[in-house]
Amino acid sequence: MARAKKVEVVIPAIPAGKIADLQPLSREQKIAQLAAMAQRAERDLQPFINEISTRLVFGEGDPDAPIMFVGEGPGIEEDRTGRPFVGRSGQLLDKQIKAMGYAREQVFIGNIVKLRSASFDEEMGRVRDRPPTPAEVARQIHILHEQIAIIRPRAIITLGAPAIKWLLGVTEGVMKIRGTWLDYRGIPTLPTYHPAFLLRQYTDENRRKVWEDLQKVMALLKK
Ligand code: URA
Repeated sequence: MARAKKVEVVIPAIPAGKIADLQPLSREQKIAQLAAMAQRAERDLQPFINEISTRLVFGEGDPDAPIMFVGEGPGIEEDRTGRPFVGRSGQLLDKQIKAMGYAREQVFIGNIVKLRSASFDEEMGRVRDRPPTPAEVARQIHILHEQIAIIRPRAIITLGAPAIKWLLGVTEGVMKIRGTWLDYRGIPTLPTYHPAFLLRQYTDENRRKVWEDLQKVMALLKK
């Protein structure tokens, strides 16, 4: 019997150079570039739109945001609304953003992938969210890299292990690496727990750890 050919998935490399060395962009230029990119992404990902992943969830927020939050990918609520982090995790993220002294509209919220990653689970008899596959990441991660290059936040907060793995290539567990400053093209990047994890394990200790992480970013931004 012929064996299925294994297709090698190549994750695009992090673009070279520091974000601070890019040509300055006005707010209007950022808005125009993000809009053009959203249109392009919508067109390019059209072949992957189906009854489970029904729309692009591009990300949203201030094009001049000082902080960018990076999650894993849209879930069912995000797919339904076309907006990132609007389900239960999103409600917790909103509270965290507020506790940091910002409104949701003042930061930028994005994801590693822009389409919901989910499959029909035969055993459960229903559609279940799953981590994005390397092929899905390979196809979509350039959008996040481009978003960061346009928005140029002063700090990035990654939420959960997949965000650090796919944005930075760091495979260390989030339990170990959370609260440790990393670098994304010269931008201080802090990994913390994903709000969904925190909701599942809503202990005083986990809440304290996340709050400590958020405070580190606030201290960096002197907020
Ligand atoms: N979880 C994520 O990682 N991203 C979202 O947008 C929503 C839930």
